[in-house]
Amino acid sequence: MAESHDGFSVHNPRTGALLYRVTPPGAPEIDAVFERAHRAFPQVRDLSVRERLARLGRVKDWIQANKEAIVQRVVDETGKPRIEALMTEVFPALDLIQYYEKNAARILRDQPQPTPLVLMGKKSRIQYEPLGPVLIISPWNYPFNLSMTPIITALAAGNSVVFKPSEHTPLQGLLEEIFADAGLPEGAVQVVYGGKETGSALIARKPAKIFFTGSDAAGRAILKQAADDLIPVELELGGKDPMVVFEDVCLPRAVQGALWGAMTNSGQTCTSVERIFVQDRIAEQFVSELGAAMERLTISRENAPAADRLDLDLGCMTAEFQLDKVERQVEDAVQKGATVVCGGQRIPGTRVFPPTLITGVTPEMAIHGEETFGPVVTVTPFAGEAEAIALANDSRFGLSASVWSGDPELAERVARAIVTGNVSINNVLATQGNSALPFGGTKHSGMGRYKGPHGLYSFSNVKSVLVDKNSGRKEPIWYPYTAEKYKLISDLIDASVTGGLRGLLNTVLVGLRLSKFMKP
Ligand code: NAD
Repeated sequence: MAESHDGFSVHNPRTGALLYRVTPPGAPEIDAVFERAHRAFPQVRDLSVRERLARLGRVKDWIQANKEAIVQRVVDETGKPRIEALMTEVFPALDLIQYYEKNAARILRDQPQPTPLVLMGKKSRIQYEPLGPVLIISPWNYPFNLSMTPIITALAAGNSVVFKPSEHTPLQGLLEEIFADAGLPEGAVQVVYGGKETGSALIARKPAKIFFTGSDAAGRAILKQAADDLIPVELELGGKDPMVVFEDVCLPRAVQGALWGAMTNSGQTCTSVERIFVQDRIAEQFVSELGAAMERLTISRENAPAADRLDLDLGCMTAEFQLDKVERQVEDAVQKGATVVCGGQRIPGTRVFPPTLITGVTPEMAIHGEETFGPVVTVTPFAGEAEAIALANDSRFGLSASVWSGDPELAERVARAIVTGNVSINNVLATQGNSALPFGGTKHSGMGRYKGPHGLYSFSNVKSVLVDKNSGRKEPIWYPYTAEKYKLISDLIDASVTGGLRGLLNTVLVGLRLSKFMKP
């Protein structure tokens, strides 16, 4: 991608070919986008949840019918293997719509709540209401999944959407096509192309909420800008995910899990495995088997053996600046004494960085604390449970983690002790494979949750409602304040916190004595 004041061009990262040029909108066009979004909002809001899902069902059908074309668009702009585009970009959108088709009406319906005895005669409930036009800003690593997932959720909850894709992988025109025949009101989903200046200009139009996925640096800038207008912000940021492997593990499965968890999407995954901690008795064997498995991956046409091979195992890196960052981190680690077990240098003339395994990491190395976001993973040994937990938690990030052991109780204990938004036991990147599970981070990995029931609530105003009768009586707590009323209310508090039959009886008795204050 090359930016200039009059637009930017999008290239295929594998071949370098120019795909198309994009022109960001000017201020009047951005104003018009928000005018349309505001006009569309009440129309989306007033659709029942089932009506919204019927429209999303058409989106699902379109995606299914055109999945090969979507895979091709994603592959062309990201350089990832086709199977990854199919499985981790296209399928999650279909699965999420299916999950909401089955569950959204139940999740979003009014929910009656218990009303305590001191509020006798009244009814309580929670209801979920759409927010307004929401702004969704996405990164380049999963341009389809990380766009469609929040858009689907926001629409199912009844909002209109203004969406800004990454300037590096805009998939220009694709989302417009997908939503064109869904039967949604005009302006319900609008795509605005541009870089961070465009993102900032969209925030300045005061959307009802900002849903941001990207780096923690950009997340901070967005939170600061949103603070002036108190715009609610959800941040889905980076990670430095730990994988903790105990000595009683099934080693071949753990090695394969580490390989896929660290290398899928060339490690350009917010939840990719970046730090592996292995119990010291098996650490040497783990490193040797993982290194060998990494070297067996097919990373270029020259080492692609099988005739039925669909694609390479490892794609290229999507953006040159990200590859530079990975190279700098590896060089820094080597200079400060780390060992490169395999990989370590890009294939000349390409954006392919081979699977890289590093040991001997120390805290002064950039790779120790910074997100790498590339096909590089570190292995560090640990002695026992307490040390494993301390190492896993020694990070400013807390997005996802995994714990591997043949002892379910040990694995449960460690999984609970790791400060993270998502954790898998004896698996990697698995929580995000289930649309029913909310996704989000702790610490510098962000705030808020999407997907699952929480996703719909994230895009809703959670409204509490208490309903009383239009009776001729007033509440005992209303004016006037007298000494006798004070005494009775004090007794009522004691009775209501006593509990049991005695508490119930006393509450009713004091309530009856208070009722003389209820005449208007
Ligand atoms: P980025 O932060 O550079 O950009 C993300 C998006 O934000 C882009 O659309 C960009 O144009 C926009 N943007 C940047 N600065 C902005 C600003 N000040 N105002 C408004 N918009 C702005 O991130 P990236 O390089 O595209 O993505 C990589 C990062 O995303 C990694 O850190 C990765 O871990 C993270 N990520 C997180 C998740 C998650 O779900 N937690 C998922 C994928 C990627």
